[in-house]
Amino acid sequence: MKNKPFYFSLFVGSCLIITVLLIIQQYQSAFENSKVYASTNLPTSSIKLPGKEITEKITVGAIGDVLIHDWIYNDAKRGNSYDFHPIFQNVKGMLQKPALVTANQESILGGKALGISGYPEFNSPQEVADAVMDSGVDIVSTANNHSYDKGERGIQSQSNYLDKIGLKHVGSFTSEKDRNTLRVIESHGIKVAFLAYTFGTNGIRIPANKSYLVNIINKDLMKKEISRARLDADVVIMSIHWGKEYERYPSAAQKELAHFLANEGVDIIFGSHPHVLQPMEWITARDGRKVLAVYSLGNFLSGQVRDYKDIGGLATVDITKSTTKNGNKIQLSNPLFYPTYVTQKHFKLYKVVPLEKAASYGLSHADVKYREIQAFMKQWIH
Ligand SMILES: [Zn+2]
Repeated sequence: MKNKPFYFSLFVGSCLIITVLLIIQQYQSAFENSKVYASTNLPTSSIKLPGKEITEKITVGAIGDVLIHDWIYNDAKRGNSYDFHPIFQNVKGMLQKPALVTANQESILGGKALGISGYPEFNSPQEVADAVMDSGVDIVSTANNHSYDKGERGIQSQSNYLDKIGLKHVGSFTSEKDRNTLRVIESHGIKVAFLAYTFGTNGIRIPANKSYLVNIINKDLMKKEISRARLDADVVIMSIHWGKEYERYPSAAQKELAHFLANEGVDIIFGSHPHVLQPMEWITARDGRKVLAVYSLGNFLSGQVRDYKDIGGLATVDITKSTTKNGNKIQLSNPLFYPTYVTQKHFKLYKVVPLEKAASYGLSHADVKYREIQAFMKQWIH
């Protein structure tokens, strides 16, 4: 009889333990559903003593073109202004995970004063930038073939608005001084410089005395800027607008330029312009560095449909910086790709969604396409 309270407490204790275990299990499965990245991708830092090696690690990423056709801005129109936030709502979680994300703002954000327009000479509502920034993008590239669609006024208006809301931008500039101001973002003790160049501006000529307006691909200029960036930053990222439209593989010219950039000191190349995805590749630079080239990130948000033009995604790579008494060492690892899809219903209700979840938005065989795109992007990654 003496043991009765003991068995009773044992019973109550076991019940409590089982309840706690069940709660933990439920919590874990709920957490796994919302998890996009493995925990190894989260920024980490470790300090090892007494050798005094400090290691910092971040993930950086990029998405492709944000190209606002007229049916997209008509969909986003709310009375006198625009709201693009709902379009990005399903990918916000994905874009906020990496420490730094860059995007190519293909259509110029000149705003209403310059007359909103779609193809072929774009001028988009400035509210696009609010949604892009809110979704998790830290810096946009503004060097592309549409940079000069609204001339110098477009570039100024866009630059003023981006400065006002605090979204960093690189590639088109309002003055020589502006162009000479290197864009460096520091995250977890790692300084990342962002550069951006385009092959051209659709034949619209930029005044010779104002060449600072748009960064046009020029090896001498790039070489100088890269070497300057290497002095001020740990990592150099180049957004580059190049290649042939609708080609799914990089041209010989893209490959040649990628090797040039790698040898000059660029660490990560994020390409755009073909409107479709092109694979990622490791390039070994002359000094032995492993450089990641993502040849084309395709369209992230556009009105283009079919033939892979409505599929884009987020490419990411981890950067590890080790600091020892002998200096700093940068290592890139774990390149990943998260495919996305642009969904709409009769040119309304535009949304960018993860491709793996696109079946619920009416895309047939979304799971097959997801696996196909994953394999396509990583076919050269060994
Ligand atoms: Zn383009």
